[in-house]
Amino acid sequence: MLIDNHNRKINYLRLAVTDRCNLRCNYCMPSEGINFVENNKLFSIDELIKLSRIMVDQGIDKIRITGGEPFVRKDLMVLLRALTELDGLNDISITTNATLIGPYIDELKRLGIKNINVSLDAINKATFERITRRDQYDTVYGNLVRLIAEGFNVRINFIVLENQNTQDVLSILELMKHYKVSVRFLEEMPFNGGSKTFNAIRWDYKKILEHITTAYPDTEKLKSPPTSTSINYKIKGHTGTFGLIPSFSRTFCGSCNRLRISASGDVITCLYGKPKMNLLSVMRGNNAEEAIKKHILDAVGNREKTGFEAQAQHSSVFNSSMTSIGG
Ligand code: SAM
Ligand code: SF4
Repeated sequence: MLIDNHNRKINYLRLAVTDRCNLRCNYCMPSEGINFVENNKLFSIDELIKLSRIMVDQGIDKIRITGGEPFVRKDLMVLLRALTELDGLNDISITTNATLIGPYIDELKRLGIKNINVSLDAINKATFERITRRDQYDTVYGNLVRLIAEGFNVRINFIVLENQNTQDVLSILELMKHYKVSVRFLEEMPFNGGSKTFNAIRWDYKKILEHITTAYPDTEKLKSPPTSTSINYKIKGHTGTFGLIPSFSRTFCGSCNRLRISASGDVITCLYGKPKMNLLSVMRGNNAEEAIKKHILDAVGNREKTGFEAQAQHSSVFNSSMTSIGG
């Protein structure tokens, strides 16, 4: 079992399988993209399988596959199939922009991979295209509805962006009213590849909640699991729920149970901090398994207590992009 230096149990790995993406969401990347790492500096699928096995051996029981866009990797299903064979791994989930998932929905269902987070920051097509800088709305919406209809546990990630999509906050709740889905509103974080910088946000979780409850006064707070990053609510008469994720306000650090590994091997113990180490050459060296286990123990034993403490490691504004960190 992995216990960090603040006595938090770490059982949740967010594994980025690529830094590439077919969208260019303006809160995530500049329009020209970022300096993507060379192919041979990304873990191969075999390496990702080996890494996952080592991590599960160390006590990880939940893995979320993220990126970049995970389905940009043509061999993603090879990894997913292998993950379903791992004893001790109880929860496999995926975060996706839902542009490319269509052909894989049937197999995901057969494999029992049910937890899919879909990023959708607008229900107005023009707004979606402005934010993502790509013309993929119909595909994303079609795949989203299909995933819901097929019985997946779908959560929608909607980042509330000032002057961009706040007019869609209530509309998406209305649109999803009869669907069994959770719409999670996230605060924007300053990880956009340096394309814009900020030290504060106006649409924090309190403001988002006030905006929603003004329109829907009959809103009840739900009990959430202790390690949940979202504060969850139900609107009377709605089939699904909604959640608020204080990703910039960082109210949830005290119960953080997660570790991140980027597609190029960076071990990240807090989104707001610097990578603790890189595992790529360790994975490709001698005694990889033992060495990785030792590095992971070191990383987990040296975690910052909060995202604010971690942020203090940076002297200037963030210039990294969520497409390399995995969200
Ligand atoms: N491409 C996939 C997707 O968009 O769902 C997976 C990778 S994406 C980096 C993972 C999550 O990070 C998405 O839900 C995305 O909305 C979120 N994200 C990206 N940039 C962000 C930012 N600057 N602030 C908050 N969340 C961000
Ligand atoms: Fe791609 Fe996801 Fe980043 Fe959008 S948020 S650019 S879909 S990695």
